This record gives sequence, structure tokens and C-alpha cells, in this order.
Amino acid sequence: MPVSGVDQVRMGTAEISHRLCTAGQGCHACVSKCPTNALALDVALLRLLVSREACVGCGMCEMICKTVNDRVAIRVIPARQW
Ligand code: SF4
Ligand code: SF4
Repeated sequence: MPVSGVDQVRMGTAEISHRLCTAGQGCHACVSKCPTNALALDVALLRLLVSREACVGCGMCEMICKTVNDRVAIRVIPARQW
């Protein structure tokens, strides 16, 4: 069935490992690549945040993180299959 918008797509949700994420050291490689603008830097905490409402689980952020980090700091947790 065709979908009318991204709000109907949910393949999973991105989860960040703050231990591995280097956003605090200035990395924001994944932020501008997210097609739904689900990623943002919390400038007060110097942490990357994922909007659970906006994230559709496309995996783009995970792919980008792989290219800039030795250890991937963001991964898509697949949505539960019903
Ligand atoms: S999985 Fe896709 S939609 Fe979700 S934060 Fe990553 S790039 Fe954005
Ligand atoms: S690309 Fe990886 S290390 Fe950089 S901000 Fe995104 S999740 Fe963090």
C-alpha cells in the first residue's frame, strides 16, 4: 500500500551511544544527512539527540557514522515486527 508521508514509515529508531559519539568533540557528520531532520545537537549538553517522532529508521546516520568513526556510535534498532 502506498504511504502518504514519512509519518507512516517506521523501519526502526536510531539509538545513540553517547560513549562512542564524538558530537562533543565537534562531529555532526550525520546531522545534515538525516532526511527527516530527526537529529540535532544539544548545544548545552554537547550531545546528539534523536527525535523519536521524526526518525523513520532509514539507517543513513549509521552509514555516515561508519565513514567518520572507527566505532559506530548510532545504530537503528529495528521496529518490532507484528
Ligand atoms: S535512521 Fe534515518 S531518519 Fe532516523 S535519525 Fe538516522 S538518518 Fe534520521
Ligand atoms: S556521525 Fe557518529 S560520531 Fe558523529 S555525531 Fe553522528 S553519531 Fe555522533
